[in-house]
Amino acid sequence: MQYYSTNNPKYKVTLKEAVIRGLAPDQGLYMPENIPVLPDSFFQRLPTLTFRELGYEVMEALFGEDLNKEQIRELVDHTLVFDAPLVRVEEDMYSLELFHGPTLAFKDFGARFCSKLMSMLMEGEKRKVKVLVATSGDTGSAVANGFYKVPGVEVIILYPKGKVSELQEKQFTTLGGNIHCLEVEGVFDDCQRMVKEAFLDKELNQKMLLTSANSINIARWIPQCLYYFYAWSRLPEKHKKLAVSVPSGNFGNLGAGILAERMGLPIDVFIASTNVNKVVPDFLHGLDFKAMPSVSTISNSMDVGNPSNFYRLLALYGNDQALFREKVKGFYFDDEDTARAMRAVKEKSGYILDPHGAVGYLGLRNFLRMNPGQYVGIFLETAHPGKFKSVVDEVLGIDLELPERLQQFLKGEKKAEQIPIDYLIFREYLNKSM
Ligand SMILES: *Cc1c(COP(=O)(O)O)cnc(C)c1O
Repeated sequence: MQYYSTNNPKYKVTLKEAVIRGLAPDQGLYMPENIPVLPDSFFQRLPTLTFRELGYEVMEALFGEDLNKEQIRELVDHTLVFDAPLVRVEEDMYSLELFHGPTLAFKDFGARFCSKLMSMLMEGEKRKVKVLVATSGDTGSAVANGFYKVPGVEVIILYPKGKVSELQEKQFTTLGGNIHCLEVEGVFDDCQRMVKEAFLDKELNQKMLLTSANSINIARWIPQCLYYFYAWSRLPEKHKKLAVSVPSGNFGNLGAGILAERMGLPIDVFIASTNVNKVVPDFLHGLDFKAMPSVSTISNSMDVGNPSNFYRLLALYGNDQALFREKVKGFYFDDEDTARAMRAVKEKSGYILDPHGAVGYLGLRNFLRMNPGQYVGIFLETAHPGKFKSVVDEVLGIDLELPERLQQFLKGEKKAEQIPIDYLIFREYLNKSM
């Protein structure tokens, strides 16, 4: 299978090139040149398959031309080491819990798949592979834990000093080994700029292979379609129309859901749920797509003013804006709405939402109220509430107990080098052997 750039459908590359480059040279996003549609027989068997079994079949359809059966098995087995239970919260409303992985957020799925696929594609490569990541929190932890101890790959994480929570920081700075952390005396945008400069540095790129593991990368994006198949396979009310609500920031997660639907999964409506960073809901309500500066909210992993996967969503609908607007409904909510929903759900059913899942819940609830009795709904719960303990405690007036895995991270010792906002110093660091 080849992958084309959303900026130029004639520009096509191999799987290896797409994964290693991340972004196309014309700044477009890579897309599979054709999307395989799975046969009816697959969907009939789906409820009897395990998560891994369905994973082999879906990934075979997407990567079968480039990877052999054993490699696909290895990739899926490495990725799906934790469950994604579908939990009934209210009548016709289910939470798809994606937070049972090592860093307790859905990004673990993509990061684990990406690290394994990269190391497979790099076999025999002489240059050292260095994965550069600029993070404001969650991406750093998922990528660090996904790539930890992966042979032949060094990971360099840049993060803004004092701008990430202690819990987030400890999830990547305490690992050591092939995970190297740089605490930059600046803000997230400074980290991002230094990483971009390194990708454009010709001399540096001749010496080493620099790559990225952000959500643009198909190796992180595509495997996220698996849990949509799994959710449907476990849903009791298959006779009803299905609406799926995705709390979104960069819109990779929603895009993966649409990919599953394009492969034949019977999802009738998607709901793009955001906080007040609402450029996509605005587009869905008829405005032009226009990037905006991001606004801080309590669902901070979705504080994105220029969602990088937008053109990928459009491409999935054949660049047909009317079709996109018909299949995807947009809703946005402010922090007040989010907090109120967290309290109401806790009171009604005892279920504790994290602020991101609460936005997904709200989008679904609003849609179901506008279409009474017609749909069953699933919202994606993207992080464990313990990851956002201070917000959850304050909103709900509780002292949430942290899961054991998060407590373990807190016990570790932080290892990070401090650097100023200075590309030459960063470059020198990359040039040092590690
Ligand atoms: C990254 C993240 C999101 C947003 O996902 P996108 O794929 O960027 O839309 C939502 N919730 C949590 C907890 C996240 O970490």
